[in-house]
Amino acid sequence: MIEVKNLTKRYGATIAVNNVSFSAQAGEIVGFIGPNGAGKSTAMRVITCYLPADEGTVTVDGYDVFEESIEARKRIGYLPENTPLYTDMGVVDYLKFIAQIRGIAGYTRNERIKEVIDICSLEQMMHKNIGELSKGYRQRVGLAQALIHDPPVLILDEPTAGLDPYQIIEIRNLIKEIGRQKTIIFSTHILSQVAATCDRTLIISNGKIVANASPQELALGGLDQQIMQIGIIGPHEEIETKLEHLDFVLDFKRVDSEAECFRYHVTSHKDHRTATELAQFVNQNNWELTELYKTTIDLEDVFLKLTRSESQTRGELENE
Ligand code: ADP
Repeated sequence: MIEVKNLTKRYGATIAVNNVSFSAQAGEIVGFIGPNGAGKSTAMRVITCYLPADEGTVTVDGYDVFEESIEARKRIGYLPENTPLYTDMGVVDYLKFIAQIRGIAGYTRNERIKEVIDICSLEQMMHKNIGELSKGYRQRVGLAQALIHDPPVLILDEPTAGLDPYQIIEIRNLIKEIGRQKTIIFSTHILSQVAATCDRTLIISNGKIVANASPQELALGGLDQQIMQIGIIGPHEEIETKLEHLDFVLDFKRVDSEAECFRYHVTSHKDHRTATELAQFVNQNNWELTELYKTTIDLEDVFLKLTRSESQTRGELENE
């Protein structure tokens, strides 16, 4: 449904999006996460035809966003970071106006307005002015405008920014519900939302995609890595020195210790026979193995690990 190939976008000397490629299938919910300034909004603006790219191509439902922009736009619903609302308009009037400028014929217009009011649970607010609504309801109106022409693709830039935890859950559930029928790309800073909402996560750092995997895969250590938890009864200094010298161990970290038992998270390549080799390693050293299993790590750890190299953006992240 969405095909992005070698997309590059510069603002003067700043490369906001740097040779990015990915695709999104029909019915897939894809989460963009990344530190501030990573290039998420810029990528979304190019996909939605708001900005031209410097290099690369983007197609939406087979239509090139540069060459066949009008056809591509018909298939896209876009909720930018700052919800485009006229606060002095009533909800229904606003939706009517949007339907009109999107070219929805008079006889289907009212039907569509009813449908999006229903999907976005706006019945109780439909006679109010947008300016009177809470931020959560305004966001629903924003979603309703993005949905009014029934596009197969929705691009939502930080749809939960500034909402309270209840509103976040409501919008998240709404996105999941809508995502059953549509392809959705949404960006967020909130890592738990990714696990709760997305089929796939793209982690973006300094204009580049540093991971493209399901939240479950990411929690297992990233794209091509796995993490084993191992418990060993033995001398921890010796264990750690020897772990450091094992070829297949990319990284390890002591997670806790209890009496004489030390527990570690050991990262290795996904395809490696890590469990067998770790068991042999413990045996050969005459230590005692208390546990050995594949484990998951916090998405936050994966995120920090994958975006860590960018000292400037890390600074921004820490300041948030
Ligand atoms: P994100 O959405 O991940 O926070 P953006 O796409 O907004 O990232 O920004 C990516 C980079 O492009 C940042 O370095 C930002 O400062 C820069 N940038 C974004 N918009 C503009 C603009 N209109 N003019 C110049 N630089 C911009």
